[in-house]
Amino acid sequence: MRRTIFTEEHEMFRDSFRQFVAKEITPNVEQWEKDGIVSRELFTAAGSSGFLGIDVPEEHGGGGVDDFRYNLIIGEEVQRAGAGGAGLGLTLHNDVCLPYFLSLCTEEQKQRWLPGICSGELITAVAMTEPGIGSDLASMSTTAIRDGDVYVVNGSKTFITNGINADLIITAVKTDPTQKHKGMSLVVIERGMEGFERGRNLEKVGLHSQDTAELFFTDVRVPVENLLGQEGQGFVHLVHNLPQERLSIGAAGVAGSEAALAWTLEYVKERTAFGKPIGTFQNSRFKLAEMRTEIDVAQAFIDRCVEALNSGELTAEEAAEAKWWGTELHKRVVDTCVQLHGGYGYMLEYPIARAYADVRITTIYGGTTEIMKEIIGKSMGV
Ligand SMILES: Cc1cc2nc3c(=O)[nH]c(=O)nc-3n(C[C@H](O)[C@H](O)[C@H](O)COP(=O)(O)OP(=O)(O)OC[C@H]3O[C@@H](n4cnc5c(N)ncnc54)[C@H](O)[C@@H]3O)c2cc1C
Repeated sequence: MRRTIFTEEHEMFRDSFRQFVAKEITPNVEQWEKDGIVSRELFTAAGSSGFLGIDVPEEHGGGGVDDFRYNLIIGEEVQRAGAGGAGLGLTLHNDVCLPYFLSLCTEEQKQRWLPGICSGELITAVAMTEPGIGSDLASMSTTAIRDGDVYVVNGSKTFITNGINADLIITAVKTDPTQKHKGMSLVVIERGMEGFERGRNLEKVGLHSQDTAELFFTDVRVPVENLLGQEGQGFVHLVHNLPQERLSIGAAGVAGSEAALAWTLEYVKERTAFGKPIGTFQNSRFKLAEMRTEIDVAQAFIDRCVEALNSGELTAEEAAEAKWWGTELHKRVVDTCVQLHGGYGYMLEYPIARAYADVRITTIYGGTTEIMKEIIGKSMGV
């Protein structure tokens, strides 16, 4: 179905990012999958080509265009290329971390951090999850106790995307451990701070080129100048920024579904069984038709959410709908596509096999499907 949200400028941007993917990402994916991490040069290459910090004001080194459609295009193109794992660090940096810096930094912090974030020299991460808590964020136990001009941070985080590569880590902490939500704050912990150590780059089922790590903090003395936003408002800041993160993940789900369907369509037209292309069996046709329909329906909703985000109207509930629906669709579509590939669908030389391993986490990270339904359900007064 023809999409109506893009202008000619967006299409030019898509072409140029597609070329970037072909040159800088696709040739390296196999190596990064083996290494368990992308190279830092991916970020600096993206930065120098104008693909980071598109919405950062020009005086701070960004593109000066506050329009999520550009972010959307980046997320869609990495899915199209079958490089969701390699591209996740970029979308996390642009769509998830940057909004915290843009909306919460003081002028001094903006000058200190934004140029490096836009050039790709400063890679970002956001650390909320701890070994003992994920969904129940307000029960976190990492503390940041004020001592003069510093916060003394103790605790640990786990499952942190960009955890090995990151230079700036937006870390959710308890500045008042006697409180739940109201005791939470955000501090930026920087590479090299004494007492900050990285643990393992975790071995995952999929997303192998994405570094996902443990972080440990032992008496890390974080200057008060690294407080992001207001003390005690950490939960409010998270709630404010999570809708964009969730829309980004949901949109990637629909783009990944589109990519999986395209690879599968090509395959079922060529592969024959019982003397005819396997795509012509009625079951295959029905499956393809169902996927086509579901993706078109979901895409229309995602595009509407992107417009709502751009005009400042996207609600937490709508973002939760986009997140759970887009990712559950992606999981269903990829599973069906593997089935249509037969045994080859289980072979990593086919992109659908990698997608099968990569997709599983998407209904869990960024808030599980169950938590998304809780958010939506609660808003309905039940
Ligand atoms: C690859 C990867 C990347 C990640 N990246 C990051 C990152 O960059 N930063 C970060 O902070 N975190 C990150 N995470 C963590 C991720 O966000 C959490 O794993 C997720 O929020 C779920 O938390 P949990 O694992 O503690 O599961 P739990 O909270 O223990 O949940 C387990 C199960 O219980 C269910 N459940 C929990 N509460 C409820 C409830 N109230 N009602 C119904 N069901 C419920 C959940 O839906 C789930 O099915 C990442 C995780 C992975 C695996």
